[in-house]
Amino acid sequence: MGPSRLAIAFCGAALLAFAWHAPNPPRRVCVTIDDLPVQNAPAADARGISRRLLDALGKHRIPAIGFVTEQRGASPAVTREILNMWLDAGMELGNHTASHFDANRVPLERFAADVAAGEPITRELLGARRKSLRYFRHPFLHTGADAATKEGLAGYLSQQGYEVAPVTFDNQEWVFAGAYERAFQKADTAGMRRVAAAYVNYMEENFAFFEKRSREVLGREPAQTLLIHCNRLNADHFDAVARRLERRGYSFVSLAAALSDEAYRLPDPYIGPKGLSWLHRWGLAKGLPIAMEPAEPEWVARLLAAD
Ligand SMILES: [Zn+2]
Repeated sequence: MGPSRLAIAFCGAALLAFAWHAPNPPRRVCVTIDDLPVQNAPAADARGISRRLLDALGKHRIPAIGFVTEQRGASPAVTREILNMWLDAGMELGNHTASHFDANRVPLERFAADVAAGEPITRELLGARRKSLRYFRHPFLHTGADAATKEGLAGYLSQQGYEVAPVTFDNQEWVFAGAYERAFQKADTAGMRRVAAAYVNYMEENFAFFEKRSREVLGREPAQTLLIHCNRLNADHFDAVARRLERRGYSFVSLAAALSDEAYRLPDPYIGPKGLSWLHRWGLAKGLPIAMEPAEPEWVARLLAAD
C-alpha cells in the first residue's frame, strides 16, 4: 500500500470513527391517540381503559393528543367524563369526526357535516380551560380518493380553522388491538400475552423502518408523529412501547412542537384511496415509490378474523 492509499485508508477510518461518535440529533416523537372515548371495547370498560392509558402516558411524561369521535364508543355523558379525564391529565384533544366516517365512502358534504357534528363537547370542554379546538385527524388517514374530494376537504378544514394532524409512524396496531380484545372477551390470557409481546416487538420494527425511510426521503429523521388508538391493548401495554421508544433515544413532544419541524411544510401530492404515512407522501413528492412496511404476523391477523 503506497502512502496515498494509506492516507485515504486513514482518512476513511477517521471519517468512520467520526460518524460513529457524532451525536445524532435528539429523536423526538409526538404520541397521537385516535378514537376516544374508546376503540373496540365495551363502553362499560371505557373509563378504566382511559385511566390506565393515562397512567402510562403520565409515567413517561408524554404530552399526548387524543382525537375524539364524539358520537361513537360511549354515551355523551361517559364521553364527556373521559374527555375531562384526558384534559385533567394535561393532554390535548382534537377532532376525528363524530362518527368516524370514511372520506372514501361518503360524499364530501356529508363528511364535512360529520366533522362539524364532532365538535360541540370537545369545543366546550376545551373552552372551559381557555383552549381551542385546533387539530383534525382524518379517519383511516383517508385524505381524499380523487382530486376534487382532496381539495374540497382540505379547503373545508382550513376554512374551519383546523390544522391537519399528519402521521409518520403509521402502523398496524389496530390489528393487534382487535386480536387482543377478542382474546380478552374469551378470557384467553395466554392469547392476550402472546399478542401483547408480538405487538411491542412489531412496533419497534415499525419505528426502525420509518427511521430508515425518513433518512431515505428527507436525509434526516424529523420529529415523528405516532398513531395509536385508545384501546385495551395500549391501556395494558403502551408502557412497554414507550420504554422501547425511550431506549431508541426518543423524547416525547407535543403535536405543536412536532409540527414545527419543517418536514411538515412539505407537499403531500398523494391523491388516492390509501391511508398513507406522510413519509410515503413526502417520498412521492420526491419521486420515490412507496416502500413496503413491516407486516403484522399472520397469526395475529388470523386471531382477529376468527370467530
Ligand atoms: Zn380512527
